[in-house]
Amino acid sequence: MSNQPYSFFHSVEKSFDKAAKFTKWEKGLLEQIKACNSIYSMRFPVKMDDGRIEVIEAYRVQHSQHKSPCKGGIRFSDEVNQDEVMALASLMTYKCAIVNVPFGGGKGGIKINPRKYSTYELEKITRRYTSELVKKNFIGPGIDVPAPDYGTGEREMAWIVDTYASLKPGDIDAAGCVTGKPISQGGVHGRKEATGLGVFFGTREVCNMPEVMNKLGMSLGIEGKRIVVQGMGNVGYFCAKFFREHGAKVIAIAEYEGAVFNENGLNEEELFQHRKKSGSILNFPGATNIEKTTEALEIECDILVPAALENVINGNNAPRIKAKIIAEAANGPLTPEADEIFVQKGVLVIPDMYLNAGGVTVSYFEWLKNLSHVRYGRMEKRFTENMNSRILSQIESLTGKEVAEKERNFIKHGADEIDLVHSGLEETMISATREIMEIWHNNPSIPDMRTAAYVSAINKVGTSYTELGIFP
Ligand code: NAD
Repeated sequence: MSNQPYSFFHSVEKSFDKAAKFTKWEKGLLEQIKACNSIYSMRFPVKMDDGRIEVIEAYRVQHSQHKSPCKGGIRFSDEVNQDEVMALASLMTYKCAIVNVPFGGGKGGIKINPRKYSTYELEKITRRYTSELVKKNFIGPGIDVPAPDYGTGEREMAWIVDTYASLKPGDIDAAGCVTGKPISQGGVHGRKEATGLGVFFGTREVCNMPEVMNKLGMSLGIEGKRIVVQGMGNVGYFCAKFFREHGAKVIAIAEYEGAVFNENGLNEEELFQHRKKSGSILNFPGATNIEKTTEALEIECDILVPAALENVINGNNAPRIKAKIIAEAANGPLTPEADEIFVQKGVLVIPDMYLNAGGVTVSYFEWLKNLSHVRYGRMEKRFTENMNSRILSQIESLTGKEVAEKERNFIKHGADEIDLVHSGLEETMISATREIMEIWHNNPSIPDMRTAAYVSAINKVGTSYTELGIFP
C-alpha cells in the first residue's frame, strides 16, 4: 500500500491509462492529453456583513485547449481543493469530446459553504472571483465559459455575466462568457431537464440495440421496463418523468429518508407533491415503504438509475444488485470494485461521463444562442407553420378528407426553442451512444462501456491535437 493520500486526479489518470492501451497514440501525446494545461489558484479578500475581512480560496483549472473555449462548472463547497478541480476539469474534456461538444475541459471552485453566507456576501464573492478571472484572462466566450455546479445556480451565473459585461464594455458576445443563466439574461429553454432527458435518450438508445439486449437477455425498447431511481432531485426527478412518459414503469424511488415501491409504477410528480406536503416520500398512497433506503437499490428490476451521490454502489452491495442495466445519472455512483463485479456478472453499466452529458450539451446550445444573438426558432417557426398548413390544405382538397384537429395541430407546429433544444440533445445522445458501442464492438477486449467511452474521448482529443499540428 502506498502512503500517498487519495488523489481524485490520479484516479482519473488511472482510468485514462486503462483505456489508452486500446488506442494508437504515442506516449508523449497521451501525456499531453492527460495533463492540466493551466491552473489558477487564487486568494482574495472579501469584506463580510459584520465588517470582518475573510480571505477566500478559489480555483479555475483549464485542462485542455485542444478546442476553445474551455467549459465546466463552478462549485461552491467546503470540500473544494486543487486536486478535485483538476480531476473535474479533465473529466469535462473527455465528456465534451464524447458528445462532440467542441470545447476543452475546465472547472472552477470556491472553497466556501454557501449556506454560511448571506446573499450579499455570496454576491460579493462571486463578483470578485469573476473579476479575478477577467484580470488573468481566464474567462470569456472564446476563452473559458463556466456554468453552474454544486452550490451554484442561475443566480450566480447572472452575477458572473453582469460582472464580466461591466468589465468588458462593448463586447457584444459578453453573454456567452457563462452558461446556465436565467432566460432573461440569455439562458436557453430546456436546461433544467437536460441532464435527466439526456440520461433517458442514452439509455433508450442502448435498449434499442438488438445485439446488446439479446446478450443481456432483455426485450428490445424502453416500454414495460421496470426502473428503480435513487434520488429525486433535479436529475432523478426528470429521469423518472421521461422513463414513465415513454412507457416504462418506475417501480421504486429512493430518497435519503427511505424508499417507496409500487409494482404498477409510481408517478414522480405526485410523489414530489406528497413529499412537499408531508416532508417525506414515505407513506405515499398505494406504495409500500422501504425503510432502509439502500435496499431499494437491490430490488429486482431491469434498469437501476443512481441519481443521487457518488460511491453508493460499492464492493459490499454490488453482488446483491439484480438490475441488468445500471444507468449512471449521478457522477461516480459506482466504485471501481463495483465496476469489476458488474463486468463479471454481465451487468451493463452505462457510464456517467457520457450519460449525464445533457447539461453540458444544452450549455453548448446556450452559448451558440448567445453568439448568434437570436432565439432558436425565431427565424423559421412561422415559415414552417405556414408551409405545413398549405400542405395539409392540399392533402385535404385532393383526398376530400379532413385531418383530425389534434393531428392537424401536431403536423402544423413549427419548432420553438424547446423543441430544437430537445431535438439537438436527442441527436447528441444517440450519436454518442452509437460511437461508443461501435468502439466496444470492434474491440472485444475492451472490458466495459466506461473504458470504451474513454477510448472514444482519447481518440477524439488525440485527433484534434494532431490536426492542430503542434507536434511536428
Ligand atoms: P440534487 O441535489 O438536485 O438531487 C440529489 C437528490 O439525491 C436529493 O433529492 C437528495 O435528497 C437525494 N439523496 C441524497 N442522499 C441520498 C441517499 N443516500 N439516498 C437517496 N437519495 C439521496 O442534485 P442533482 O442536480 O439531481 O444531481 C444528482 C447527481 O447528478 C450528482 O451526482 C450530480 O453531480 C450529477 N449531475 C447533475 C447534473 C445536473 O445538471 N444537475 C449534471 C451532471 C451530473
